[in-house]
Amino acid sequence: MSRLNQHFEAARGLVAARYPGLAGSRLFVTCPQIDKARKGGNLRYFMHVGHFPQTICAHADTEHLPSQNLRGLFLHEFGHLMVGPKGTEADANMAVFEAFGIRILYDKNAVQYIEGVS
Ligand SMILES: [Zn+2]
Ligand SMILES: [Zn+2]
Repeated sequence: MSRLNQHFEAARGLVAARYPGLAGSRLFVTCPQIDKARKGGNLRYFMHVGHFPQTICAHADTEHLPSQNLRGLFLHEFGHLMVGPKGTEADANMAVFEAFGIRILYDKNAVQYIEGVS
């Protein structure tokens, strides 16, 4: 299993215990929208939701990020699925903190991460 899948499944397992409706969430790795944005210079753009129902799109480049970033990105995106399409970036992070006590932080490249992931 790829690192991308491992971190997706770890995040989904945590989220689904509290939000059973998200247990069937899927990962889509070859999203052309993200690829286009990255090729256009938006190099902190790795993932999004809202493209397909209950699906997190992730760019293949995400595979090479440190584990802390990978888990933080996935939890942030699950936060979006938890709060729905009207939720802001801050709403997504707050939902994760309120549900799981996990604070989503941003590194020097403005990419999400969490502490305590090996
Ligand atoms: Zn997409
Ligand atoms: Zn977001």
